[in-house]
Amino acid sequence: MNWITRIKSAAERIKTAVRKRASKAEIAASKYISCHGVPVEKKIIEQNNFVCPECNFHHNQSPEQRFNMWFGENNWKKINTPKVADSDPYRWTDTKKYTDRLKNAKKITGQDNAILSCEARINNIDVVVSAVNFSYIGGSISCDEGENVLASVQTAIDKKCPYIFVSASGGMRMMTNMLSLMQMTRMTIAINELKKNNLPYIVVITSPSTGGLQASISSTGDFCIGERKATMAFAGKRIVQATENTELPENFQTVEWQMEKGQVDMVLDRKDIAPTIGTLLSIILKKHKSESIEENNSLIENSAQETKEAS
Ligand SMILES: [Zn+2]
Repeated sequence: MNWITRIKSAAERIKTAVRKRASKAEIAASKYISCHGVPVEKKIIEQNNFVCPECNFHHNQSPEQRFNMWFGENNWKKINTPKVADSDPYRWTDTKKYTDRLKNAKKITGQDNAILSCEARINNIDVVVSAVNFSYIGGSISCDEGENVLASVQTAIDKKCPYIFVSASGGMRMMTNMLSLMQMTRMTIAINELKKNNLPYIVVITSPSTGGLQASISSTGDFCIGERKATMAFAGKRIVQATENTELPENFQTVEWQMEKGQVDMVLDRKDIAPTIGTLLSIILKKHKSESIEENNSLIENSAQETKEAS
């Protein structure tokens, strides 16, 4: 075999390897998923609320699946939020038309926009919850999503109940440019209104929570709960590494790392999040009084005061 045939055969091997790589559609259609190097049946993961029973990897969960898990099927009421008149004001086209991307996202998720909001009860306490669907254009935020948050916060204010925001986002939506960036301010003002009404605001960070959403309302919770090993960041790790020109720790930008830095209050497994929120709200709102809760009240109040002073 001379050097020409050797190169040719290597090129063939590379071509075959590239061809053999599964497409997104093939991965979606497969019965199996791989999170710890061994195929696991998707059905098993689904039955365990999309958490791998072998390695505890938390796979993405849609807002509907999360609400069903937290409150029980048909035990929550969707909040219908206003739609903007023109969802494609820039007539944006990149490799696809933005309008086609929107149609596809709606078809995949069954949602009107990237956020699904509901009214429900947790530990017998009325709550309003909004959750972002990462499958809807990477959980990016545009005008309809901004309207959703504003309407949901207003519902919480009207009902005088806490607001919970489950974050998962790639950031603000580039296809709507400045109009999407404006939502950071609008949503933050809405949360400030909630706080003026002395209503608790709890943020749950799921993976990945990045960009403009993380730089606005996902960082302003009275309590911030991180879902196990979730990514929580503004810019990506490689960008930070290139800017800082230094080696970063392996757990950089995970919620565990953010907790060490004081950005996250607690990191929990998915199954423990709703019960913990219920307990937290009981203490904050002084419901279901018991001796142990009474004892904890002063601690929580001190902690809330410190958070307020810090912000
Ligand atoms: Zn696994």
